[in-house]
Amino acid sequence: MIIILNNKATETNIQELTDLLKARDLGVHISRGAETTIIGAIGVLDEEKAEFAEQLISLAYVERVVPISKPYKVVGRAFRPEGTVINVKGVEIGGNKICVMAGPCTIESREMLMETAKFVQENGARILRGGAYKPSTSPYSFHGMGEEGLKLLAEARDLTGMPVITEVMDTRDVELVCKYADILQVGTRNMTNFSLLREIGECRTPVMLKRGWASKIEEWLQAAEYIASRGNYDIILCERGIRTFESYTRNTFDINAIPAVKELSHLPVIADPSHGTGKWNLVDPISCGAIAAGADGVIVEVHPLPERALKDGGQSLKYDTFSKMMSHLSPIAKAVGREL
Ligand code: PEP
Ligand code: MN
Repeated sequence: MIIILNNKATETNIQELTDLLKARDLGVHISRGAETTIIGAIGVLDEEKAEFAEQLISLAYVERVVPISKPYKVVGRAFRPEGTVINVKGVEIGGNKICVMAGPCTIESREMLMETAKFVQENGARILRGGAYKPSTSPYSFHGMGEEGLKLLAEARDLTGMPVITEVMDTRDVELVCKYADILQVGTRNMTNFSLLREIGECRTPVMLKRGWASKIEEWLQAAEYIASRGNYDIILCERGIRTFESYTRNTFDINAIPAVKELSHLPVIADPSHGTGKWNLVDPISCGAIAAGADGVIVEVHPLPERALKDGGQSLKYDTFSKMMSHLSPIAKAVGREL
C-alpha cells in the first residue's frame, strides 16, 4: 500500500507511522518529495487491506491510502510521482539535463582508456563507461581485465573528473567493484540473477539495470523492485534492445519501452543504442529517437580504433562519429524541453 501524508505530517509522525508498520512486520519505504511524503508499506495481506486502510486514514496526518495491485511497488510511479533524480558525484541523472555516458565496451589498456576518456569528456560526455568484467556468450572470448581494469577506470576518473560506470556480474565481486565504481551496471544476462540483485540492493552505490534481452517491461520493473526492496533506491533503467525475429540488427531497440517505463515508474531511463542495434551507423539516429521519446540519456560505446577493438568494434563510434552524434542530440533535447 502507498500511504500519502498531508502537509501537517511532522518527522515524529513519520517515525510513529514507521514504527506502527514495522510492528506489523511490513517493509517500509519512505519517499520525501518537495511537497508530500509518501510511505510504501509492503506485505499487507489482501484480506487485511481495506480494514488497515481505514485505520490509517483515521490518522490526522494521513491524506490518502492507495492499494497497489502491480507486482512492483517501490519503483512504481505512484511512490514518487515527481520522478527520481539521481545525483552521482554531482552529475544528475533524471533531471532536466540529458546525461551522456560514453567509453569503450571493454577496458583494453591504460593508453586507450585515458585517451578515450579525455576525448569523450571534452566532447560532452558526463559519465565514463568501461567494462572490466565482461559477460560473454562464448567462454573463449576476452573476459576483461578484472581488478586491473577497475584501477584504470578509477585513474581515468581522477584524470577527467567524470564518474564511472562498470559492470558487476558476480555476487562475490560486488564489494570490490563498489570500491572503484560510481555506478554499478547489471547487464542484460544478469537481469534475472536474483542473488546479484539482492546483493546490490544491500549496497548504496547507484545501479544501472539493463533490460533482459528476452524480458517484458513488467519483469524488468520487478527486477528493479528486487534492488529497491533492499533499500537501494538509486536505480537507473537501461533499454538495450531485445531479441526479435529480426537478425539484420544485433537486437531490436524497443523505443516503446522508454515512454512506457517513464509512465509506469519514477526511475530515470537511459538508452543503449550500441547494444540495441549492434551497428555503429545506427547509434546516432537511435540515440536521437530515444531522447525524443523521453529518455534521460544515452550510453554509447566509443573506441579510438574500432577495427582493433577486442569487443563490440562493429557497434563502437569513432571520435568523429561521437562528436557528430553529440551535435545532433543537442537540438533534439531542446525540442523536448531538455538540455544536453
Ligand atoms: C555492455 O554494456 O558492454 C554489455 C555487455 O551490455 P549488455 O549487458 O546490454 O549486453
Ligand atoms: Mn559492449
